[in-house]
Amino acid sequence: VRFEVLGFAGAAPLHGACPSYLLSGGDRTVLLDCGPGALERLWRRSLLGRLDAIVVSHMHADHMLDLVIMAGELVRSLSADRRPPLYVPAGDGRTVLAGLDAAFSRSPSARTRFDEAFDVIDYDDSDTVEIGALELTFAATEHAQPCYAARASDGRATFVYGADGAPGQAIEQLAAGADLLVLEATFLDDERAAAEARHMTASQAGALASRAGASRLLLTHRFPDADAALLARAAALAFAGEVDVAHEGYVYEMAS
Ligand SMILES: [Zn+2]
Ligand SMILES: [Zn+2]
Repeated sequence: VRFEVLGFAGAAPLHGACPSYLLSGGDRTVLLDCGPGALERLWRRSLLGRLDAIVVSHMHADHMLDLVIMAGELVRSLSADRRPPLYVPAGDGRTVLAGLDAAFSRSPSARTRFDEAFDVIDYDDSDTVEIGALELTFAATEHAQPCYAARASDGRATFVYGADGAPGQAIEQLAAGADLLVLEATFLDDERAAAEARHMTASQAGALASRAGASRLLLTHRFPDADAALLARAAALAFAGEVDVAHEGYVYEMAS
């Protein structure tokens, strides 16, 4: 299983693209989240139109806004029979997509630009999604909007993406024994501010990784004024495994 960071920036694409990650197993490639800046990074890698699935954790703009532009680009440049599955949180996903389409359409219709470009599929934490050799399962996170963390395994290597959210039982269970655990570090150590915003701190990410027995922790969703070295240090105080801070082009190959 191969993992690559396209974007890592929380809230706004100021110091890089917003959350967008590539996960590959066998000959399949999945895009996890599609934040602002993702489309250009995909295009540079010649991956536009070659994605086997897109999984959106939640409908906050920093995790999905490039779907708006990507939908138009896919319809313009690709044959209609190659619509990649787009997994969105059940209930919330289609509502937001319909609202975005209505805002940009001259003549709103039941079939949106997203339906033209993607095979839109609802998912929640009761679903198991198979994409080639990769099996994906999900857990609801403690966030301001319905949000799902994702666990992907090919039966040997296990990857977990925590998306956005405060620490909780569900994400901790989902992360159990992960070879690579990607967690947000929106705050350094201000647990009160993090709790109010329904995010987590780097310290909490480290403690969660430790409790879950993960091998390696990658901190992401950081703000432009955050000091990457401080984030890593805060997490490492609570976690004995390897800690990295996400940047564009970060790649980790899990032995499988
Ligand atoms: Zn976010
Ligand atoms: Zn969010």
